Amino acid sequence: MSLPAASPSLPDVGRRWAQHPVFSAEAGSVLETLRPLLERHPELASDGVLERLIEPERILMFQVPWRDDAGVVRVNRGFRVQFSSALGPFKGGLRFHPDVDLDLFLSLAFEQVLKNSLTGLRLGGAKGGSDFDPSGRSEAEVSRFCISFMTELHHHIGADVDVPAGDIGVGAREIGFLFGAYKRLVGRFEPGALTGKDPTWGGSLVRREATGYGLVYFVQEMLHAAGEDLAGLRAVVSGSGKVALYAIEKLRHLGAEVLACSDRFGALIDPGGLDLAALKRLKEVERAPLTGYLEAHPRARFLPGANVWAQPCEVALPCATQGELDVSDARRLIANGVRAVAEGANLPCSADAIAAFQGAGVAFGPGKAANAGGVATSGLEMQQNAAQQAWSFDEVDARLQAIMRDIYRHSREAAERYGRGGDLVAGANMAGFERVARAMLDLGVG
Ligand code: NAP
Repeated sequence: MSLPAASPSLPDVGRRWAQHPVFSAEAGSVLETLRPLLERHPELASDGVLERLIEPERILMFQVPWRDDAGVVRVNRGFRVQFSSALGPFKGGLRFHPDVDLDLFLSLAFEQVLKNSLTGLRLGGAKGGSDFDPSGRSEAEVSRFCISFMTELHHHIGADVDVPAGDIGVGAREIGFLFGAYKRLVGRFEPGALTGKDPTWGGSLVRREATGYGLVYFVQEMLHAAGEDLAGLRAVVSGSGKVALYAIEKLRHLGAEVLACSDRFGALIDPGGLDLAALKRLKEVERAPLTGYLEAHPRARFLPGANVWAQPCEVALPCATQGELDVSDARRLIANGVRAVAEGANLPCSADAIAAFQGAGVAFGPGKAANAGGVATSGLEMQQNAAQQAWSFDEVDARLQAIMRDIYRHSREAAERYGRGGDLVAGANMAGFERVARAMLDLGVG
């Protein structure tokens, strides 16, 4: 092992990844937050750990040809960034959305490495998907696309290799088609190869709810640390997808009132509190825009093209997509008295929005800690698959709560230990990195 320098210099990620500005900005800012830890533990930067940390182990890009209902051949691009397997098989979601590219998948996969480490489970980090847009496509088209996508991806995944899950545009329906294709291609029923499966054929109870529930458990920890509680607070949530709906559900279980959510078309405000059953019917069954809510809820308003951040609230949870909350949104939330903000989505808040929250004393939970409940429960799904067991809802939920409490505690304690008390962004990065770095050193090079 080479001798560590007293204060390690950080790799120039901006230069090495100049063609990928989203990833280089994200990785560069994460590396910066590691400085206090590396000054105390320079051995964690020995043997090229930092250089290896910002270099994916493998990048896959592939053609996905499929036939639409009119018989026309369409060609999409598939991606899988297998970033790190230091702590376990590669693990991370698949996203089907027209705006994705390699730069985004690099940054999401990098984020996933530290997030998965924070769960305390044996999970490496990955992310992938395609520029295919399932919205507006027939079920048969989505099925044909998923089969073609898996025709290439199955060569690169497996229970001990890489275990994808859902993300934006990939829900229970898509996971079903993908798993069915995988099963036929490899010729065996291997449930551990994908998570987010339906519980009737190998999925875990609570996986559907896990990211949203886990997010709210994390927020409750942040509030308790400040001597507060969710009960009686007003909340707004962006998005109305898998994460948002179950964050809304758990907020209501814990006594908060949820006043607004959104979709790609605009923001829905219901001053009497959102009707969750109506939202679930619209988004999970009918796959319809939120404007449909207005028919049975005359007191509600829909603001086309708007976001939810102008609504006065104490708790704000961005749960839609990256880059959805900028510094002007942050200032508006602060002026309206927000007390806690936590990221259900990945990378939704801009760097200056986060700085504004932290500067104003608003409790801020970064996504890699606050939304880790989804992947943690995927890890629990893998454990059940390996043991051929199916745990009860309450058992999985109790484990999820314990994991979220631990993630909060480890992030807070790491921040305090290295002189960044109260900064959960730095704390989560340092706590996540420490476990990955020690595994990388133990496993050696080459
Ligand atoms: P989803 O089920 O596809 O829902 C996404 C929601 O965001 C939908 O309501 C969608 O609107 C809305 N949306 C998409 N693009 C938007 C835009 N440009 N502006 C405003 N709204 C937009 O996806 P999801 O699984 O909930 O994921 C949401 C976020 O959480 C992503 O950042 C994802 O990476 C992150 N995350 C997900 C999980 C998980 O377990 N699923 C775990 C950790 C983190 P429409 O309803 O109109 O489509």
